[in-house]
Amino acid sequence: MSNETPERPSNFIRQIIEHDLKTGKHQTVATRFPPEPNGYLHIGHAKSIWLNFGIAADYGGTCNLRFDDTNPHKENIEYVEAIQRDVRWLGYDWGERLYYASDYFEQLYDYAVQLIRKGKAYVCDLSMEEIREYRGTLTEPGRNSPWRDRSVEENLDLFARMRAGEFEDGSRVLRAKIDMASPNLNLRDPIIYRIRRGAVHHQTGAEWVIYPMYDFTHCLSDAIEGITHSLCTLEFEDHRPLYDWFLDELETPCHPQQIEFSRLVLEYTVVSKRKLTELVEEGHVEGWDDPRMPTLAGMRRRGFPPEAIRDFCSRIGVTKSENFVEMALLENCVRDALNVSAPRRMAVLHPLKVVITNYPEGQHETLTAPNHPQNEAMGTRELTFGRELYIDRNDFVEVAPNKKWKRLVAGGEVRLRNAYVIRCDEVIKDEAGEIIELRCSYDPDTLGANPPDRKVKGVIHWVEAGTAVRAEVRLYDRLFDHPTPERAGPDRTWKDCLNPDSLRTLTHCYLEASLGEAAPGETFQFEREGYFCRDSGHEEPIFNRTMTLRDTWAKIARQGA
Ligand code: ATP
Ligand code: MG
Repeated sequence: MSNETPERPSNFIRQIIEHDLKTGKHQTVATRFPPEPNGYLHIGHAKSIWLNFGIAADYGGTCNLRFDDTNPHKENIEYVEAIQRDVRWLGYDWGERLYYASDYFEQLYDYAVQLIRKGKAYVCDLSMEEIREYRGTLTEPGRNSPWRDRSVEENLDLFARMRAGEFEDGSRVLRAKIDMASPNLNLRDPIIYRIRRGAVHHQTGAEWVIYPMYDFTHCLSDAIEGITHSLCTLEFEDHRPLYDWFLDELETPCHPQQIEFSRLVLEYTVVSKRKLTELVEEGHVEGWDDPRMPTLAGMRRRGFPPEAIRDFCSRIGVTKSENFVEMALLENCVRDALNVSAPRRMAVLHPLKVVITNYPEGQHETLTAPNHPQNEAMGTRELTFGRELYIDRNDFVEVAPNKKWKRLVAGGEVRLRNAYVIRCDEVIKDEAGEIIELRCSYDPDTLGANPPDRKVKGVIHWVEAGTAVRAEVRLYDRLFDHPTPERAGPDRTWKDCLNPDSLRTLTHCYLEASLGEAAPGETFQFEREGYFCRDSGHEEPIFNRTMTLRDTWAKIARQGA
């Protein structure tokens, strides 16, 4: 773990752990991050990773990465690999501690046999529909399955034959024998094994035709690994009595203590793997790593630094109450990190040609510009100045709209950042009246400072036309235009809230020459424009906008108010 991690504020989970260590209940802390490899990791998972790995690191303990891989139909190796890549990128290292629940399939099978031997599990021949029907509701107790009282011998025989592949998918299941009248539905004889004959598992291949259910697997895997504190989100609170039942009935190496915390819910996005899968599969985004996705892979491609995400996790805190977080908080963490780390560059996104008429044709000169205005240690880079330049269309108007306008106007002066003051002498238009070029003159005595007699307030960015790199720039915005897409109202589904302007592509931008060498994943501040990251996977330069310089959404919200 790198040492730049911000100090972690205390929270109720850390208090429990500190108490357990003080009273000697535990001598060490062992946690785990347990993803199901059925999708890419998202910002909600980052909270769990940060919490589990962070706690282990702070108390000198260990944190396992364990795949809870019990559903071969929904999982695949692409997800297994992506998850490892993303956890590592976020800054965490599990060392040798990489596990799969499927490593324990034999042992889990033995646990199931133990339950059968104790008369605490039975093979049930009801169909899935009947099982649901017998289960009852929150207000009505369930009914016992007619197969509930099979003998231990018969159950052992049938379960062995389930494993041997004798029965069709769905024809039989193994269930725990607990209490069909329990007010907690999870305790109404839950299924613990099902038949999946055709499945090929990414770790165990075709070795198994029966698969343990998540609830059975999860708590026992924690026990097998000697997890002391099993941290999970609040929806598992109702499952805890079931986990405790398994752990009490079986002779497991230990009894991990489960502690629940609230899920992170982030504005203007969705964090559910099911919904994110839909966005990918239906082509609303380009893939799991689309820079608009709330996935770690998307955020990496967008240019978010991992330290910004860790900083975000530490700022949102860990509690049991609803964790609904403003997007602006995450965005500000990204700005704070990039403001410090991103080198400054100039890039013209909407080019307008400028010819410096008093600069000799064919001549160029090299100017020097700092990489960061506040950090000299980041050094300098070279800029080429010459007769033909580009400035941004938005930095010129023929007539100033008001007194606040500091940029260039016809007949007016402006400073070119890191270079000279220029004056606009002539505006060239095409037949349609569109401005296509400015004829300007420069003042050679203004490099670095204004002459004492003139105050030129405006400073704009520019690039030299001959050396500039032509590039595509993708301007990303929030994926949804509603802060809570899942609760947008009766006549708007979450997908209706997709922001139609979440991607705008500018194909004709000019970047200062040094950006031609930017490595994929490198992030810069394009002065006055925002933070941009060189996209990966292309020969030609494509830059993703990571973030605007300021929170433009807050402004929109204020104007709307
Ligand atoms: P999803 O709802 O996206 O499918 P999940 O809980 O099914 O998420 P898992 O792969 O099981 O996904 O999650 C691994 C761990 O991450 C679990 O311990 C889970 O509690 C935690 N986690 C998942 N989503 C969030 C979230 N939004 N906030 C905090 N922790 C989360
Ligand atoms: Mg889950």
